[in-house]
Amino acid sequence: MRSCLLALAYALVVPIAAAQNPAVDAKVDQELPSLVSTYKALHAAPELSHHEDKTAALLANELRSFGYDVTEHVGKYPNAQWQGHGIVAVLQNGAGPTVLVRADMDALPVEEATGLPYASHVRIKNDAGVDVGVMHACGHDIHVTSLIGTAKLLASMKEQWHGTLVLIGQPSEETIDGARSMLADGLYSRIPKPDYALALHDSSELEVGKISYTPGYALASSTSVDVTIRGRGAHGSRPEVSKDPIVLASEFVMAIQTIVSRENSPFDPAVVTVGSIHGGTKYNIIPDDVHLQLTIRTYKEEVRQHILASLDRIAKGVALAGGVPEDRAPVVKASDTEVTPAMYNDPSLTEREVAALKRGLGADNVVEKPAVMGSEDFGQFGLEGHKIPTFMFMVGAIDADRIATSQKNGVPLPSLHSALFWPVPEPTIRTGVRAMGFAVLELMKK
Ligand SMILES: [Zn+2]
Ligand SMILES: [Zn+2]
Repeated sequence: MRSCLLALAYALVVPIAAAQNPAVDAKVDQELPSLVSTYKALHAAPELSHHEDKTAALLANELRSFGYDVTEHVGKYPNAQWQGHGIVAVLQNGAGPTVLVRADMDALPVEEATGLPYASHVRIKNDAGVDVGVMHACGHDIHVTSLIGTAKLLASMKEQWHGTLVLIGQPSEETIDGARSMLADGLYSRIPKPDYALALHDSSELEVGKISYTPGYALASSTSVDVTIRGRGAHGSRPEVSKDPIVLASEFVMAIQTIVSRENSPFDPAVVTVGSIHGGTKYNIIPDDVHLQLTIRTYKEEVRQHILASLDRIAKGVALAGGVPEDRAPVVKASDTEVTPAMYNDPSLTEREVAALKRGLGADNVVEKPAVMGSEDFGQFGLEGHKIPTFMFMVGAIDADRIATSQKNGVPLPSLHSALFWPVPEPTIRTGVRAMGFAVLELMKK
């Protein structure tokens, strides 16, 4: 009986052990305590998009200490007040492929409510002068830490790979203008144009130790839209001399609900969300205008264009029906900067990497997931028309027992961007570094 069990255990364990890379695992485990303390320091000191100077400096110093050739302050924005905080770190290791690995660095205007010992207490005035709490509520501190771990790992294994490794610290992912800012600042003339581009993101739903992926289109396009409904202000007691923009804006919000439900094919995923509506100053004043901020998510470009045209048509129609004079017609403006195309995982690169990740992490720890309507600007490093194959995977960040409890109680776990979101540092970073290490080695191995 005992020998039988031993034989069974041997049969089960040996193929898995042989498939993993003990050299990678030992190096990652050795670095883990220092990576976790870096993570906690980053978590306690988050910086908003366009303002990532200290995070970028920390990353640059670490990468330089591992022997990378580091360029700082890469990035050019249309708004001249914003400095580029992009980091480009290159490690040349003979002839071979060029592989780009990107980590985003920015945090969000969220007041942290996790109560963790290393929680952020940072408050800052945002670009509009409003006092806000700042939190790494999307886990970009996990990404920066994982990039540091991957950088050190690969610098210590140069005999196993060849080519040019390019590590990117990207600013301003949350405002989806950071990747564009780096490309606009000549990223691909500063470095050889990569043959492949890789990135990871932590997941607020997936168990630690696992990663997930989506072949093909994985994340939706995102477009920020500003709408100004203009009317004619008046005393609150005299609506008859006004063209009330609050009533018109209310009609507009309800009317645009039919764009997705009635104008769009159910086979084409799309979202129209009004995230902000502001108008007026006091109980008894009808204001002159109301300002709305919307986000549009689609996969197809023609669906995005249709939604933008519909928003304009409906805004004008509501104003016309309300008797608003032509010179006070509403203004619908899609942002030129807060816009990013759908994120596309190159199918053959995905297949190759998934096989490598299954060998490295174990097949059960690599799971396929359906596409979502969230967005990412990482795909921009692949250039228009998916010229450079890109692959992004998700890293589980939640303990199995928390997932089980949430399922049992029917209470969803805090999502990314929630004030209560917290990844478990050690296993999340460990899996992030191992997975990215395996993914890079697959493309650059000798
Ligand atoms: Zn985010
Ligand atoms: Zn994110």
